[in-house]
Amino acid sequence: MGHEPKIDLHAKVGDHVAKTTCYMCACRCGIDVHIRDGKVRYIEGNRDHPVNRGVLCGKGSAGIMQHYSPARLSAPMKRVGPRGSGRFEEISWDEALEIATGWLADVRRTDPKKLAFFTGRDQSQSLTGYWAMQFGTPNFAAHGGFCSVNMAAGGLYTFGGAFWEFGDPDWEHTRYFLLFGVAEDHASNPIKIGIGKLKGRGAKVVSVNPVRTGYNAVADEWVGIRPGTDGLFVGALIHELFRTRQVDLDYLARYTNAPWLVIDAPGAPDHGLFARDGDGNPMVWSTDAGAFASGMAGEAAPAMTGARVLPDGRRARPVFEMMAERYLADDYSPEAVAERCGVPADQTRRIAAELAHVAFREEIVLDRPWTDAWGRQHDRMIGRPVSMHAMRGISAHSNGFQTCRMIHVLQILLGTIDCPGGFRFKPPYPNTAPPPLRPHGRPDEVAPDTPLPGPHLGFPLGPEHLLLDGDGRPARIDKGFSWDAPMSAHGLMHMVINNAATRDPYGIDVLFMYMANMAWNSSMNVPGTLDALTATDENGDYLIPKIIYSDAYYSETVPFADLILPDTTYLERWDCISLLDRPISEPDHAADAIRHPVVTPDRDVRGFQEVLIDLGARLKLPGFVTEAGAPRYPGGYPDYIVNHERKPGVGPLAGWRGAEGDRTGVGAPNPGQLDRYIANGAFCTIPIAPDHAYYKHANRGYLDWAAEIGFRPTAAPTVFQLYCEPLQQFRLAAEGHGPHQPPDHARDRIIRHFDPLPFWYPPFEGEMVAEGAYPLHAITQRPMHMYHSWGSQNAWLRQITAENRLYIHRDLGARIGVADEDWVWLTSHLGRVKCQVRLMEGVNPDTVWTWNAIGKRRGAWGLSGDAPESARGFLLNHLISELLPEGGGGYRYSNSDPVTGQAAWFDLRVAIERAEPGSRTEPYFEPLGTAGRPAAPDRLAFGVEWRGRGA
Ligand code: SF4
Repeated sequence: MGHEPKIDLHAKVGDHVAKTTCYMCACRCGIDVHIRDGKVRYIEGNRDHPVNRGVLCGKGSAGIMQHYSPARLSAPMKRVGPRGSGRFEEISWDEALEIATGWLADVRRTDPKKLAFFTGRDQSQSLTGYWAMQFGTPNFAAHGGFCSVNMAAGGLYTFGGAFWEFGDPDWEHTRYFLLFGVAEDHASNPIKIGIGKLKGRGAKVVSVNPVRTGYNAVADEWVGIRPGTDGLFVGALIHELFRTRQVDLDYLARYTNAPWLVIDAPGAPDHGLFARDGDGNPMVWSTDAGAFASGMAGEAAPAMTGARVLPDGRRARPVFEMMAERYLADDYSPEAVAERCGVPADQTRRIAAELAHVAFREEIVLDRPWTDAWGRQHDRMIGRPVSMHAMRGISAHSNGFQTCRMIHVLQILLGTIDCPGGFRFKPPYPNTAPPPLRPHGRPDEVAPDTPLPGPHLGFPLGPEHLLLDGDGRPARIDKGFSWDAPMSAHGLMHMVINNAATRDPYGIDVLFMYMANMAWNSSMNVPGTLDALTATDENGDYLIPKIIYSDAYYSETVPFADLILPDTTYLERWDCISLLDRPISEPDHAADAIRHPVVTPDRDVRGFQEVLIDLGARLKLPGFVTEAGAPRYPGGYPDYIVNHERKPGVGPLAGWRGAEGDRTGVGAPNPGQLDRYIANGAFCTIPIAPDHAYYKHANRGYLDWAAEIGFRPTAAPTVFQLYCEPLQQFRLAAEGHGPHQPPDHARDRIIRHFDPLPFWYPPFEGEMVAEGAYPLHAITQRPMHMYHSWGSQNAWLRQITAENRLYIHRDLGARIGVADEDWVWLTSHLGRVKCQVRLMEGVNPDTVWTWNAIGKRRGAWGLSGDAPESARGFLLNHLISELLPEGGGGYRYSNSDPVTGQAAWFDLRVAIERAEPGSRTEPYFEPLGTAGRPAAPDRLAFGVEWRGRGA
């Protein structure tokens, strides 16, 4: 220590500090940006910020090099060479906006569905969705369909919330934490802080993941499961809870549909639906009254077992009894699942016993009186200190929706949702289960020069809510909300380019994308996607005629667009992290935030949201012009953030509303609102009263408050849906009931997979390819220091990882005769990748994996032609098909979950063999043209100008 330099930690490093919100990943931590001479000098965490409390990760501090990246675009451009050539001409913003307006106005005037508007990992979906709605196209979604819609939909249909942005473990009280399929970027700082608290308190952390990296490496116990079998493992845990009679019956009776009666009349059109009374309420059997009662009335002693004869003479059974039957079956015994999951039966049985022990024998009590939704007083809050968290490892499979539901069922059986020590909702969640939003975009809702009557995305309750034309064909270009993916609450962005190029279900005229690297790491089947982007018709015209793309950087997708609208960096623009969108709340408070320009762009670039509002006014979209046709938001995005009202008094930001800035949640626009946010560190928190902080789904005080402040549509409690009736509605249709009928090729698929009680089935790809030919699973993990493809162009983060390897189990290496750094071919039913290996122990023996999105194409991202990212980096995307192999009936479904359309990235099956040594990874892609941009600098230096001038 004696040789350590003495650093004055209090030295001023800039002229002033600007507080804003980080955007180096999706966590949205608060940051203090130290500005010197108008430039970014240093970034640190904001100690007052509710998300990170001052913690800053490596990505966050490296935001400096993201901001000064040589890959930044510098002016609008129009394509002058063939697509992919990278030949562009810089143009003025006037010309760029004129071109875009002309293209878009033509479409809107003639056939609005010919616009497909899809956005990537941006954080302004409430604005982009509203814009698309005003435009009138049915074809809008963000990237959720290829990210984690299984988690969102699985949670929202089950209990009105979901993991991550909608809820968190109770880090302060939990004693047993079960983590499924989570990589380090979803979420980052908040989970690290949380796990730190658990470790400090001695709580047990169990991770279920085929790979032991990141959070899994610091877990007390690692379950190295085979990919895609988590549902089977969870089913076995549930089996053990039922077998040992360790479920929270009181909790189930009070807060769930476990006692609701399900009609048991096979073949009837209402078989499997809830028995309902004359008012439409689901019925239960009251053991106190010896009579039927409403399931919504908070019946104190409903029967959980036993068939009943309904007033109409038919039979009905409680959900709980059906669940017990399902999960007590031998199929879910720990022994039966052990080999398939790669988890010994003893380990499964022990974990189930530990969960039950902590939940029921280590109960915690908070002395906080509260009142439930039915007016019953409770003098304390009882906690079952088991919590869980899951993300993409569960989501990115074709069985992800049902697996996610199964994890929630496990939580609910233990009584751990929104109790002390369990999983806690973050306001505005919980919503109703599912939320009361239905999708819009049916052909009769789409007309020239007319907005859609409602939002694009929602939660269908049955076939009547699908978006189909008169022949039952998909109304959306991505086939969302069709029989292919009926409950696709976030759309299927991964199918847009392929469908548009094959004109299935129809062709489009303009593809408009923001911040989605669809020509590279955001697409399955990269070579196929590049073909689709460049395919021409018999006249030599592109099958996707016009592509408008907005990005801040020269990504692999830029050269394939016709018109480039250059975005700013996150330190140069306004943004709104809204409660209408994806909030940054914590369980004890609601929160929203802004970004504001802390430095001025030195290039001819504009924030995308600014451009969208300008385009809205030029196109005269009703929501963006006054009645006289003038721009409604002449002050651009900040004007919109302050003055837009989704309904009277409800706008993008909840804080400091009302003319005086003294209203929260609901109130008139306040012209000084953004100043108040900036003065408060760019965020606002709305505290939840301590007696409202738990049981939010059934806490009278919380429900009333949340309805009043506009967080919930109603103050009625959220009843957890262990049995999901909308799934049965689709199943009944597939069995031939009702006016809305699926095509014949879809019937069996829907009958099998739309089971109202969660169950496990094998992921599709493994079942459809010759399993012996592709015996291994291949998945990616997210490096902790990168976020998607953004990080591997960042000069500081590249120094940590600039090339990737395929990680395989040491035993597998011995079997195929390879050692560290040897070359292998990895083959799937779609293609081949050549790369180098590293051997390790911490991986499921039947699984190989690599880091996500490290590989880059030459010519992109301002990297040099011999950058390691291109020479030694690679993507698994080249091996993943966007379509499943042809099944029965000759129809090719997308490689997605059959319920939600979630992209099944992690279903990939591969074979591996030793390869000759090489000098570069394959497949090889020709370098992209660089639009006349300067050659990549040999050396990137930051801060030289300040050297010798103090800090
Ligand atoms: S966790 Fe994400 S948002 Fe937070 S500092 Fe790191 S990169 Fe930024």
